Amino acid sequence: VDAPVAGTKRVLLAAPRGYCAGVDRAVIAVEKALENFGAPVYVRKQIVHNVHVVSTLEQRGAIFVDDVAEVPHGAHVVFSAHGVSPAVVQGAADRGLQAIDATCPLVTKVHREATRFSKQGLDILLIGHTGHEEVEGTMGHAPERTTLVTSPDDVAGLEVRDPDNLVWISQTTLSVDETMETVRRLRERFPNLQDPPSDDICYATQNRQVAIKKVAPAADLVIVVGSANSSNSVRLVEVALEHGARAAYRVDYASEIQQSWLDGVATVGVTSGASVPEVLVREVLDDLADAGYRDVEEVKTAEEDLMFSLPKELRRDAAGNT
Ligand code: SF4
Repeated sequence: VDAPVAGTKRVLLAAPRGYCAGVDRAVIAVEKALENFGAPVYVRKQIVHNVHVVSTLEQRGAIFVDDVAEVPHGAHVVFSAHGVSPAVVQGAADRGLQAIDATCPLVTKVHREATRFSKQGLDILLIGHTGHEEVEGTMGHAPERTTLVTSPDDVAGLEVRDPDNLVWISQTTLSVDETMETVRRLRERFPNLQDPPSDDICYATQNRQVAIKKVAPAADLVIVVGSANSSNSVRLVEVALEHGARAAYRVDYASEIQQSWLDGVATVGVTSGASVPEVLVREVLDDLADAGYRDVEEVKTAEEDLMFSLPKELRRDAAGNT
């Protein structure tokens, strides 16, 4: 990234940013369910971790619940992009609910790995964040065999049954660098640790981190649009700071940008998490333009064209044979 012309203010806009294929699919799934079945449609947990998306869907008739036990018998319920454990699927079936599974296929891939490794008799070290919905769903696929590893520092204190019978997998939205450090330490402690067949950190998380790493060294300030409970958005703030941004903040809305953040700032880097609609980034760019940052340069590090087909329950309905 070139240095700015002296005295000018500019924005470096990271790309890729914003919606990934899994979020796009999950949001469309709720919209389609509302269209096909009429309001209300129940959604277990936030469909994606973004306050704007959730409140927009609420206005259209989605009802967000924490537990399938809150859904009336026989109603439609959508499972969020973060995935669910088999116990939740069973709980929905027991209540006679019409479940629509919007779990991202890249999370389902990790679920399948967990199930397969557990059937092979391996113990699983799952790298991820305590309490995150995706972690709960993945652990639920092999509850007896999974141990959570939350950070590189966690490794030293881990207790395992058999150090020669271990495989690691991970949450999809982690910091790539931190996860590699965790794996390095795991391998140091457990030399016979097995690897998953492919990356669990998804393409969207990786691409957004690569893009902000290119922007950060040239940025006096980085603004990440995303919600507080969005793992990949929070990681983008950390990655920006680790790679040279002088300051980095996360906002849900442009109105949260504080004037003081812009004091003495020539270059602002802007990006957004995988659950963030582009309209929210546009509002940030509009506010920055009002503050004199009119020159916007996109810094693109990858092209993305992945798309997932809708959950099968909605595909059937689209074909008219419910
Ligand atoms: Fe799927 Fe990755 Fe998007 Fe999560 S961030 S929904 S795993 S593509």
